[in-house]
Amino acid sequence: KALTDSADSYKKYVGSWEEKIGSFLQFDPEAAKADSSGEGILAGIPFGVKDNIAVKGFNMTCGSKILENFDCPYTATAVENLQKAGAVPVGKMNMDEFGMGSSTDNSALAETHNPWDTSRVAGGSSGGSAAAVAAGQVPFALGSDTGGSVRQPASFCGVYGLKPTYGTVSRYGLTAYASSLETIGVCAETAGLTREVFNAMRGKDIMDNTTVDYSPSGKDDVETVAVLKVGKGDLSDDVLRSYNTSITRLKEQGYKTVEVELPTLKYVVPAYYVIATAEASANLARFNGIRYGLAAQGAETPSALMEETRHSGFGDEVKLRILLGTYVLRSGFQDQYYHRAQKIRTAILNDFNRIFESADALMMPVFPTAAFRHGSSDLTQLQQKAADLYTCSANLAGLPALAVPSTIEEGLPVGVQFMAPAFEEERLFRIAEKLE
Ligand code: GLN
Repeated sequence: KALTDSADSYKKYVGSWEEKIGSFLQFDPEAAKADSSGEGILAGIPFGVKDNIAVKGFNMTCGSKILENFDCPYTATAVENLQKAGAVPVGKMNMDEFGMGSSTDNSALAETHNPWDTSRVAGGSSGGSAAAVAAGQVPFALGSDTGGSVRQPASFCGVYGLKPTYGTVSRYGLTAYASSLETIGVCAETAGLTREVFNAMRGKDIMDNTTVDYSPSGKDDVETVAVLKVGKGDLSDDVLRSYNTSITRLKEQGYKTVEVELPTLKYVVPAYYVIATAEASANLARFNGIRYGLAAQGAETPSALMEETRHSGFGDEVKLRILLGTYVLRSGFQDQYYHRAQKIRTAILNDFNRIFESADALMMPVFPTAAFRHGSSDLTQLQQKAADLYTCSANLAGLPALAVPSTIEEGLPVGVQFMAPAFEEERLFRIAEKLE
C-alpha cells in the first residue's frame, strides 16, 4: 500500500469510498508528504489523522464551526514520530465536535457513514478514522480516546482500536477535551500494524509533562484471561452472542479463563461525565473569538465578542457539556460531584488492580450494541452516554485497552476489548494475534 507511482489509482480508490462514507474532512496526499523521512519501518504508508490532532499543511477543525478554517501551524509529536518512521499523513478524519459523542453525528462539518451499512453510524468520536480503515482508504488512522472514542468506532467498523496507557503517547498537538483521561490512539487493519504504529509514535516528550518512561514488566505472554461476567439485559442479543463466541475462542486458544465482576462498573459513567465535562469546560475556554478560529462580526465589547462567537461556533452537545462542567465545579458543589468522582476513579483502579493480581489480562465488551442507525431512533444521546460504561473505565484508570474485531452478526461487525496493566500493551497485541 506504499504511496508510489500508483498515486492516481490510490486517489481514485479513496474517492470512490468517500462518496459513500464521508470519512475525511480533508484529503491531500501531497500536503505533508515532504515532512516524512521516506525511509523507516512505516515508509510510504499513508495514514489518516483525526481532526483534533495537529498536522502542519492541513487545517485542524475538531469537527467544529468554531475552528472551521483554522490553518494548523504545527505538528503533533505523535504524528512527527510517525513521519520519522516514514509514514505519510494523507488527510484529516471526521469526528464528533471536540470528541464529544459516540456516532460522529455531532460533527458540525460533515456526515460519516459505516462502510458495512451506510444507514448506520461508524461510531465515535473517531468515526472517520475507523470508517476509513475499514474501507481500506488507509491502513491505519490516528484517533483520540477520552472515553472510548477509538475502541467503540473500531468495534462498529470491524477494525483494531488501541487506547494506550496514559502517558505513553505525547498529547502535544492533541486539542484537549478532558486532559486527565485522553490519549492519542490508533485504528488499524491488523494487530501487527497497531503494534508498529504504537511503538513508533510513543515516547517521552519534553512538550508533554505527563509523558513517562515506558516500563513494561517483560512478562508478555498471557496465560490467564479474566472475563467480565455480563448480566441479562446488559448487551443486545447480537453482541451477547458475539461475546460468548469470544469466550469460547479464548478457551480454544488455550487460555485459562476466570469469570470476574467489576463492582464499580455502575459508577463509571457518572464519574466519567463529571470529570470529562469539568475538564472540558476549562479546556474549551480558550475558544473565545480572539485566539483561534471564528470571531463573530460586529460585536461591540470583548464579552459580546466572546458570547456571540461561542453561541454561533459551538454545537448543542458542546454547549451542554460546558454547562454541565461549570455546574459540577461550582463552589459549594465540588465535594458532591467532582471530588466524589475522583474517589470513584481510585476505586475503579483498585478494582482492576485486584483482577490483575490473578490474571494477565481482562476481556470485556466494547459497547452494548453493534453500530446503530443515524439519529436517535436506535439510541438517544442519553442512552449513548450510558452505553460508555465498558470503555470509560480504562480511561478513568489510565490503563491500556485494545478493541479486537470478533464476529459478524447480522451483517455488522462486533468487537471485544482486552485490557492489561499499565505498559503491558504487548500482551494485548499477542492475544489479538492469536485470535486473528
Ligand atoms: N462517548 C464519549 C463521549 O462522548 C467518547 C469520548 C471520547 O473518547 N472522545 O464523551
